[in-house]
Amino acid sequence: MLINEDIKLDYSDVLIRPKRSRMSSRGEVRLFRTHRFLWSKKKWTGIPIMSANMDTVGTPSMHNVLSKHKLITCPAKHYLKNDSNKFNKGKSNICWFGGIDDISKLSKTSTGFIGLDVANGYTIKFVDSVKKLRDKCPNATIAAGNVVTADMTQELILAGADIVKVGIGPGSVCTTRIKTGIGYPQLSAVIECADAAHGLNAHIIADGGCTSSGDIVKAFAGGADFVMIGGMLAGHDECDGTIEDGVMKFYGMASESAMTRHSNHNNYRGTEGKTVEIEYRGKADDTIKDILSGIRSACTYVGANKLKDLSKCTTFLRVNNTHNTVFGNE
Ligand code: 5GP
Repeated sequence: MLINEDIKLDYSDVLIRPKRSRMSSRGEVRLFRTHRFLWSKKKWTGIPIMSANMDTVGTPSMHNVLSKHKLITCPAKHYLKNDSNKFNKGKSNICWFGGIDDISKLSKTSTGFIGLDVANGYTIKFVDSVKKLRDKCPNATIAAGNVVTADMTQELILAGADIVKVGIGPGSVCTTRIKTGIGYPQLSAVIECADAAHGLNAHIIADGGCTSSGDIVKAFAGGADFVMIGGMLAGHDECDGTIEDGVMKFYGMASESAMTRHSNHNNYRGTEGKTVEIEYRGKADDTIKDILSGIRSACTYVGANKLKDLSKCTTFLRVNNTHNTVFGNE
């Protein structure tokens, strides 16, 4: 047994220090990014925020709104089985995720990105599956995860992933940390995995744990190339679910609700997710505009006139600690 004494941080453990800036308005900030991917060699341009591939938020109606703003939709996995044609519009802003058993289906989709995601991206079987998907689809932009450490980020990239999905345990409806004790504070996971990926000219998605636009800002500032959100998109008109007494249900994909819906029960598998009630929030369009405006504002506070520069303009301050410490780019 080993103990790692290094301090690891969540989004709530830091704030970003304001800096002098020559910008005069949020309107000057460019949120669009262009990424060129390591293996596929393809280019993508858009706002690098994606909906989680969860039943409630990965819907065709959500895709209509997100694609209008040039954000990415990751459809819920069940659409891959039957109704993938419901996501025919704006294909460059879709990322289909599937599990190890979905390789053949994924290889037949023709969208911007495809990906393999499992709760635990640390198994040899998973790495072999990423290699298999790369062999089948040499020209596809492939995402794979989830992992939280630099070593495994590099391994997935060398196995053929262009983008690594980072996050174990931070999700708003995730109970992995409680059920298993496994996890990694999300901001540190993002910083360390981004550093590993960027060294190989690959990219990462910061997946889960964002509860506000400020958290999304911190993820980008920590080096995330894409940020995936679930709970922040829940409770809207575009979600799968009904409004009852002013609330909508939002459930994890490893929750009892999801297992029952998709008949996923078996003898050795318990739940690692929960169901929560989210206050009804109206149109997703308003929430997205609010998120984008928060990110623009953050960029003006630190003098970044494009999202690309946010990370290098950031100095994080450690907060919620007895001794505040400054680290990052002074
Ligand atoms: P959020 O943005 O809601 O904080 O996090 C969304 C992420 O939580 C998803 O993209 C996915 O990685 C993760 N997630 C979704 N459902 C479950 C679940 O049932 N259990 C766990 N452990 N993680 C989940």
